[in-house]
Amino acid sequence: MVYETGNRTIDDAVRRVLDGERLDRRDGLALIAQPVEDLAAAADYVRSQFGDGTVDACSIVNAKAGNCAEDCGFCAQSAHFDTGIDTHGFLDPEEILEAAKRAERDGAQRFGIVVAEKGVSKERRPDEWEDVLRAIRLVRDETDVEVDASLGILTEEEAEILADEGLNHYNHNVETSPNYFPEIVDTHSFEDRVHTLEVAREAGMDLCAGVILGMGESPTDRVDAAVALQDVGISSLPVNILNPVAGTPLAEDLGGSADITTEEIVETIAVYRLLHPEARVRLTGGREVNLDADEQHLPFEAGADGMLTGDYLTTEGQSPGDDIEIVERAGLEPNTEANDFDPEAVKERTADDAAVDTAAGTATEVQTDD
Ligand code: SF4
Repeated sequence: MVYETGNRTIDDAVRRVLDGERLDRRDGLALIAQPVEDLAAAADYVRSQFGDGTVDACSIVNAKAGNCAEDCGFCAQSAHFDTGIDTHGFLDPEEILEAAKRAERDGAQRFGIVVAEKGVSKERRPDEWEDVLRAIRLVRDETDVEVDASLGILTEEEAEILADEGLNHYNHNVETSPNYFPEIVDTHSFEDRVHTLEVAREAGMDLCAGVILGMGESPTDRVDAAVALQDVGISSLPVNILNPVAGTPLAEDLGGSADITTEEIVETIAVYRLLHPEARVRLTGGREVNLDADEQHLPFEAGADGMLTGDYLTTEGQSPGDDIEIVERAGLEPNTEANDFDPEAVKERTADDAAVDTAAGTATEVQTDD
């Protein structure tokens, strides 16, 4: 043992993780009850042993917005709720390429094409399907970013075609625990979501799947969601924090703010690091509205090593330069493996943009879902 907090539960867990053992539900529940400072320190150490000291940034485009037939209670894009968002059909693939080039310029290593629907369908909407493939090819061929997509439920045939076209990653969040999921969504099940992840994995794509915190779930639900993802096998675990959008059921139920504290966010991130030592634990939608400016680096000192930068699906995020500064405040550096960008140039340019445009703005969420 080369690292100790003096907390036996945590030290034993860290030792087992370093020995290559997978922690289980019982471990997760024991860990989430430990003091947050010890958890954060242990998770930071585990990140340092499994990771490369970098934070990986991804970016997304809302390629098809609103009018979704599903009824996810957090989502501004569901046709079941009156949220007043701008809706549009699938964007011209050239527009998607332009968004990918902006993401590349801003330091993203991967770029996600996200649609608001239960699933793209090669059979029912063949023209849209062809546009999806064209967009993937354009981003694949004309940028350095890796291509990700969040296209909802897939058939095996669709997954194989997407993988053959060079789609590197597939995102499909499980949102919460199997037990709490029916409280949030009626129109499909947790198992439907896991099935699509399995189909994507079988086709050869690697998986990005995560959660939304602050929806009224318990700490046990938070652990259970991460444990369910252990069996699925993921390389990226996005952690959204609810940003309640007026008109959605959760905004009404929760009174307009997420049901989670900063301490709970940090402890959950730390436990996720220990349960998923080799995945990128990625802080995504809702971080700017749920964490104060001087708190945003805390998850990155507690095991997080990924982020979503730029705008979210229906809300704005902060500037990519600010995101880089948060990473650096935590003693880490931006990943440049796929897209070898200059962080200093991004900080300088976005500072200039802010100076020119103090009256305007840019980027954050809907949950990064799909
Ligand atoms: S989260 Fe996805 S499936 Fe659910 S309502 Fe929103 S767009 Fe539709």
